[in-house]
Amino acid sequence: MLNNDCIFCKIIKGEIPCVKVYEDGKMLVFKDIEPKAKVHLLAVAKDHFKLISEADEARAELIKYMLMKIPQIAENNGCDNGYRLVINQGEDAGQTVFHLHIHILGGEPLEQ
Ligand code: 5GP
Ligand code: ZN
Repeated sequence: MLNNDCIFCKIIKGEIPCVKVYEDGKMLVFKDIEPKAKVHLLAVAKDHFKLISEADEARAELIKYMLMKIPQIAENNGCDNGYRLVINQGEDAGQTVFHLHIHILGGEPLEQ
């Protein structure tokens, strides 16, 4: 289910443009608008839920699916020498978009 007030749902529906690098029936991967590394992609689930803590069995399967797809997508987009995956959960992590997404950061050595 998608949400009319959510920026990532609007991107999924094509109402807001993005630089798409991968799409299938379950996920969309596009470039972050404010990249924090040379390569900064966002893998977004095609189901509107806010937090990893809201994952039920079906959503956990969706996250697993995304995690299994990400290595090939990352390698195809300049992260062939490694990358970092990040999920921000909630305010203290600085989450700003409350639709589950996985940051893919790489393309250069990352700060520890
Ligand atoms: P969060 O802090 O919620 O984990 O990350 C949200 C990310 O979404 C941020 O890195 C931000 O730059 C990115 N972002 C926010 N709005 C847009 C947008 O309209 N388009 C794209 N491509 N990225 C966005
Ligand atoms: Zn959404």
